[in-house]
Amino acid sequence: MRDGPADPRRRVPRTDALLADPDLAAAADALGRDRVKAAITAAQDRARRGEITPERVRDAALAAVATAAPRAVLNATGVVLHTNLGRAPLSAPAVDAVVAAAGHTDVELDLATGRRARRGRDALDALAAAVPDAGAVHVVNNGAAALVLAATALAADAEIVVSRGELVEIGDGFRLPDLLESTGARLREVGTTNRTTLADYAAALGPRTGFVLKVHPSNFLVTGFTSAVAVRELATLGVPVVADIGSGLLTPDPLLPDEPDAATTLRAGAHLVTASGDKLLGGPQAGLLLGDTDLVERLRRHPLARALRVDKLTLAALAGTLHGPTTPTRSALHADPATLRQRAERLRDALGIDGRKAEVVPCASVVGGGGAPGVELDSWALSLPESYAEPLRTGEQPVLGRVVRGRLLLDLRCVPAEADGTLRTAILRVGEQPCG
Ligand SMILES: *Cc1c(COP(=O)(O)O)cnc(C)c1O
Repeated sequence: MRDGPADPRRRVPRTDALLADPDLAAAADALGRDRVKAAITAAQDRARRGEITPERVRDAALAAVATAAPRAVLNATGVVLHTNLGRAPLSAPAVDAVVAAAGHTDVELDLATGRRARRGRDALDALAAAVPDAGAVHVVNNGAAALVLAATALAADAEIVVSRGELVEIGDGFRLPDLLESTGARLREVGTTNRTTLADYAAALGPRTGFVLKVHPSNFLVTGFTSAVAVRELATLGVPVVADIGSGLLTPDPLLPDEPDAATTLRAGAHLVTASGDKLLGGPQAGLLLGDTDLVERLRRHPLARALRVDKLTLAALAGTLHGPTTPTRSALHADPATLRQRAERLRDALGIDGRKAEVVPCASVVGGGGAPGVELDSWALSLPESYAEPLRTGEQPVLGRVVRGRLLLDLRCVPAEADGTLRTAILRVGEQPCG
């Protein structure tokens, strides 16, 4: 019976017939024939296994290419730096710079002289100009790479002195002590989880000391009977102090009083600061190293630096971020709650759906990305029935909100105002479906 004329496997459409379908042909033009062909093959296999009917093969292939990652998502979670959503969105000047750098570019050439030039000098100059307290700057792939480079270049076969209260896990199994030890450096732990004093550090110093590491425990708070030693005091110990500030704030932000910034940390006496480019700086994924000229030079000249080198797109995005007027991250952080409320009300009114379904409610946004724990930012959301969550997430324009007590909250803080129309369309689409 399986091989007979009724065998559904015989009805599975052929690849060439599917490739001639106008929608799949358009997808092949946009995304490349190989990708669409692979989606077709996978859908045909599913039909042969009986998972879908042969008549569904075309739609399944189309759905698979349409949902291929990455897709642009509207972040209505109220989490400003959402790691699962790619942390910081790039500013318009940063995007323009990436597009310009996508082809051949003068990343390592001085067009005036026709000679080779310092790679990414525009980005490095902009970073140095933003933090004049740094004697020199360097950029690597991410914050973790910055730490690896510092540990390798300054403490291979030596000790990194660090407080037990700062041996943190950043997220997704990324444990700072494991990362540091993977370089061959040894950790010399001092103090306790809740209290470490300057004397603890002083007692651990010796000929084997590479540097003292100060880590900003960015994603949790220790309260109660606690004490930690400030960079200013560590700088009196007479050994290099490396400070991992985490988020990449270059100068203080009054909104986030407990978040360390590069300029203040250097002025307090840190010899080297490491930070991420795609957290509060609002730029591309990058590891920023700022500090004493001789230390930064040692890092730059270390053979490992070549393996951690950032590509031209990152350098372009970083330059665009630093030159640009402001970043989407900063705009979201500093968004005025009254304006967010107005936008939510306008959105509710424009939806024209029944008042019980769409309400405007106050809520609290957070910084996220492992930054500023405990800080809540007053915000406003459009509240919808929870049943909107899945169709909005999986729709043509994915929208992510957060579900709180049976309601889907769409916090407008991180949705650019220009995207309100897109958000409205996405919600209305769900409303048309029977489940809405
Ligand atoms: C985020 C963070 C890191 C890791 O930076 P990545 O850019 O994600 O590699 C390291 N240290 C601290 C304190 C952080 O907050």
